[in-house]
Amino acid sequence: MTNAFLHLANHHLRDLELYQPGKPIEEVQRELNLTHVIKLASNENPLGPSPKAVAAAQKALTDMHRYPDSRAHSLKCKLAQHWQISPDHITLGNGSDQNLEMVIRTFVTANLNAEVICSEYAFANFAITTKTYGAKPVIVAAKQWGHDLAAMANAITENTQAIFIANPNNPTGTWNTEDELITFLEKIPKNIIVVIDEAYYEYVDVKAYPNTINLQKRYKNLIITRTFSKLYGLAGLRIGYSISDPDIANLLHRVRLPFNANSMAMAAAIAALDDKEHQEKSLEVNKNGKIYLEQALTTMGFHFIPSAGNFLTIDVRQNGQHVFEALLREGVIVRPLLPYKMTNYIRVTIGLEDENQRFITALKKILR
Ligand SMILES: *Cc1c(COP(=O)(O)O)cnc(C)c1O
Repeated sequence: MTNAFLHLANHHLRDLELYQPGKPIEEVQRELNLTHVIKLASNENPLGPSPKAVAAAQKALTDMHRYPDSRAHSLKCKLAQHWQISPDHITLGNGSDQNLEMVIRTFVTANLNAEVICSEYAFANFAITTKTYGAKPVIVAAKQWGHDLAAMANAITENTQAIFIANPNNPTGTWNTEDELITFLEKIPKNIIVVIDEAYYEYVDVKAYPNTINLQKRYKNLIITRTFSKLYGLAGLRIGYSISDPDIANLLHRVRLPFNANSMAMAAAIAALDDKEHQEKSLEVNKNGKIYLEQALTTMGFHFIPSAGNFLTIDVRQNGQHVFEALLREGVIVRPLLPYKMTNYIRVTIGLEDENQRFITALKKILR
């Protein structure tokens, strides 16, 4: 017998697949009775947060009886100054995941046949959130694991309301160039929203990578999302933002819950933006770790997808889920890519030197 109220639920929630997050360290310790577990599964900053961000959050704790500033004056001004834009372009999110959700809630639900275009192998939340709101994700075949922007433009129908692009993309690490993006944007009708998710923006070291803040001035239908979860090491605090035309920001503001960004997160974000030293150190750790992992994997005869982010996606030439499980037993958490139908792949976050070595040692052991 099913509970009668189940029929009340939005029908599109019934078969919704859930986002599968990286396994937490404590869970693996508990389940496998291990003590020394490392997590290279969620593209977190292995150095941790900036000590200045920690101090700022700690200071903000004593005011936790107060509601946060709903207008987020300080952080918005800080970001506006940082990017040389006016604060009315900025919308804060409880993580940039929430910014993506706000866009869908604002621009995608009006029409029952609403379609949202995403790429094959693109960040799973695009399609999941689209389905949560009863719209239809239209998945366009990838080109060399990345977004085929020409094919995505061709997929537009009269029902298309938004297009989501992750640049660089997670889980593949692939990226699109400024030229590709401009060619694409020129083809997109102005009544369709284009979202560029730049969660890994700070890691990108590619000359042809687009300057989307400049492009946003020309293409008013463009929304950029960024986050403090990756390079800035604040994933647990949940703070991200979007940059858009003020008219779009105004609409997003209507679906945004008044206190979606908390005081500790906003204080930490301001301090993290200022801590250039920690940012540079984090980039350095990532760069060296990537060189090490790429060399070690190449020596072992493995192919990986060239990545502009802080992670590598590796072809393990056998069931990636099995490799993931075997690595867990060695106390190394990576990400299996079965939900993306990349059966023979695993994704590993670039960690600290000893973590990267431990991953390679464990991989060698289980493949022996
Ligand atoms: C990690 C990630 C995000 C979201 O991060 P938040 O913690 O919600 O800011 C968004 N998009 C991509 C592609 C990501 O990998």
